[in-house]
Formats: sequence, structure tokens, C-alpha cells
Amino acid sequence: MEKDSTFVSDNFEYPRFTQDMVKTHTILIPSMLDIHMALFEGVLKQAGYKVEVCKNQGPEVVSEGLKYVHNDTCYPALLVIGQFIDNLNHRNDLDKVVLLITQTGGGCRASNYIHLLRKALIKAGYGYIPVVSLNASNLEKDSGFKLTFNLIKKVAAAITYADTLMYLRNKTRSYEKNNGDVDKLTNEFITDLLEQFDKKKGISYSSMKKNINKIAKAFDELDLDLEHKKPQVGVVGEIYIKYASLGNNHLEDFLVSQGAEVMVPGLFGFILYSLYNGIYDNKIYGRSKKTALINKALIWYIKRREKLMIDAIGKTKITPMKYFSHTKDLSDGVLDHGVKMGEGWLLTAEMMELVEIGYSNIICAQPFGCLPNHICGKGVMKKIKQIHPDANIVAIDYDPSATKVNQDNRIKLMLAIAREKIKEGEKAKL
Ligand code: SF4
Repeated sequence: MEKDSTFVSDNFEYPRFTQDMVKTHTILIPSMLDIHMALFEGVLKQAGYKVEVCKNQGPEVVSEGLKYVHNDTCYPALLVIGQFIDNLNHRNDLDKVVLLITQTGGGCRASNYIHLLRKALIKAGYGYIPVVSLNASNLEKDSGFKLTFNLIKKVAAAITYADTLMYLRNKTRSYEKNNGDVDKLTNEFITDLLEQFDKKKGISYSSMKKNINKIAKAFDELDLDLEHKKPQVGVVGEIYIKYASLGNNHLEDFLVSQGAEVMVPGLFGFILYSLYNGIYDNKIYGRSKKTALINKALIWYIKRREKLMIDAIGKTKITPMKYFSHTKDLSDGVLDHGVKMGEGWLLTAEMMELVEIGYSNIICAQPFGCLPNHICGKGVMKKIKQIHPDANIVAIDYDPSATKVNQDNRIKLMLAIAREKIKEGEKAKL
């Protein structure tokens, strides 16, 4: 039998990211949530790392992914790896680059992306480039990248601010009277927050409260046209495809360009979902009690930050998001909390929440090869529609061969139905 040219023996020593590389090497991060990434990039730079978020997009990313990843692999893995390799193809500092990838630590393939990436790097001739794993499950213990207590605190603050900004931006950008006002305000806050972080400010609970109140007030004071009702569309799905414009063909921008108001649930939701799973693992499957206790403490920590956002937005005319503890319970009776591969019960819970808060038009973004999310997304739609007959849910497939025209047409059809319903509602009122 012919031996695979990328066969890696058990004794193979992968290149390491060591302490002495921190000052000399640039850490490349795949793109995903723009506001979050801008803050993370700044926070990591302030911690002494040289960081760069990949900006490269386009068909080369997909073709590099197809070249070096098995075509059975789920689409997000193909895109993340394709984006890295395409980025490396255009650099001339290859001896000074490190790649950073997150590992969820769950049972899904996301925990194994790092092995797929290393294999692809060897195939592409970049096997000497170190890969850093960012994870909370000790999957790679020997990384030179250190998650210190201070860094974790700063990252938690960054997520709180980024989730707040993302939510308020989504709530207002479709209604701005002066084109660009919302993005200008968002960018001003990103710059301001990074300046505060640099001076070791904006991280304590009290300063976060002050900042978030200021952010909510500024968005509330924007000049908005709230007279005309727009179709409200929620986006759910596999985490990468839901958040990354590279993965979903700039879905949010497309929806706004079509006159819709978009809502994408925040990152804290996914983190809380992962933490609750540690508790359900103990309760349902008899797994580690210690993990369940630690997760309870972390949930308490995040809930305090969630309260800051909801309280601050609650003081404005903008409707705040729901508490996650409420969202979590919405999947009861539809999908059990023991279903936790991929986005598991979170996908169901988010759809139920979106319908409850008025986003009855939902796009469920489904990547190729993602069995867990097909089950927890497409698989529960019938049941959700039974509970909420008004729900207008469409599953949109994302894969290397799916054309944007097809995706856009299906979304346009969904929006046409949504507009029709708005008209009917207005007629009924008259
Ligand atoms: S959730 Fe889906 S897309 Fe994400 S790693 Fe698992 S199979 Fe792949």
C-alpha cells in the first residue's frame, strides 16, 4: 500500500511556539467576529504578543482549503485552514509566523482542527510553522502562549464590550438616518476601550458598568428612523458560519442591504452554553463533579457581566437581550440539554428566543459536513413551527460549491414573506 505523503509518526516532534519566540514571531488568528477580534487583537498586543487577524478572503481561500483538507471535512475547518494557507502563500516572513487556533474541547470535530491544520501545513510545505492551541480543556499543554489571570480578565471584559457593541450596532444600523453613523460610533468605542485597557482601565466591574452605560446612551442618542417597520431577521447556526463573514458570504451586510434588521446572538451565549454543558455532563452522564463546580462559578462571573449589558440597554429605548438562563430553558420540550454536539441545544434555544423577541424570520446557517447542527437546526424546525406558527425559518447551506446567488435568492424569498406579513399586520391594525 502506498504510504500517505503526510503520514506523521507518533514520535514526530511538531514545531513549538516557545517563550523566546514571543517577541519575534507574529501570531496569525483566523477572522471571525469583527468587533470581538479588533478588541482581542489589541488585548493580546498589550500582553506583549505580536498579533495579526487574517484579513484575506476570496476564492483562493476555498481552493487552498479544498487542496489541503479532505473534502469530507466540515466547511468551517476547510475555510479556517484555507485562510491560513492562503495568508502564508502571500507572506515573506514565514520563519517568523505562528498560527493560533481555538479548540472547543467538545466531542465535535472542532477539537481536532489542530491536527487537520498541522497535516495540511506539512502537505503545503509549511510543516515548520508552529501552531498554538487556545483552549480551556488542556488539549495542548506545551504551548508558549500563556493564558494568565490578567489576560483572561481582560478578554472577559473585551467580550462583554464586544457583545454589547455588536447587539447595539445590529439594533440600530438598519435605521440610521446618516449613513455610516453607527459604524463610526462602534469604531470610536473600540479605539476608546483599547486606550483604556492600555492604561489598565475599563476592566473592573465598576468601570465596566460606567463604560457600558455610556455606550448604550450613545447608541440611544443616534439619529434613527424608527417610523418604518423592517423585517426582523435572526441568524443562528454553527458558530463559525454564523459569525464569520468569510463563511456566510457577508450575510449580515446582505440582509441590511435588503432593508432588514439583523440580530446575531452574542458570544457569551456560546460560552455559557459550553459551561452549562459541564454541569449537564455531571448531571446526565455522571462526568466530573469538579468541572461542574468550576463551571458554576464561571457562569456566575459571566452572568454578572450579562446583567451589566441588560441593565444598561434597559435604560434606553432599545429592547435589551434576554438573560441566558431564560434562553436556555426555552429549548425544554423541544431538545434535551443532553444534546450537546456542535451547537446542540443552543441552536434550538436561540431560535426559540429569537421568535419570542420578535425576530420570527430566522436564517439557520448550515455548513457542509456538519451533522450535529443539521440535527439540532433543521431537525427541530418542524417542532418550533408547531409551537410558533408565525416562525419563518429557512436553512441556508454553505459549502464550497454553493453559489451566493442561490443563497441570496432563498433569503430574498424569506424577506418577501416577512414583508407580506408586516403589510397584513398593518392592514389588520387599520
Ligand atoms: S459543529 Fe459542525 S462545523 Fe463545527 S466542528 Fe462540528 S461538525 Fe464541524
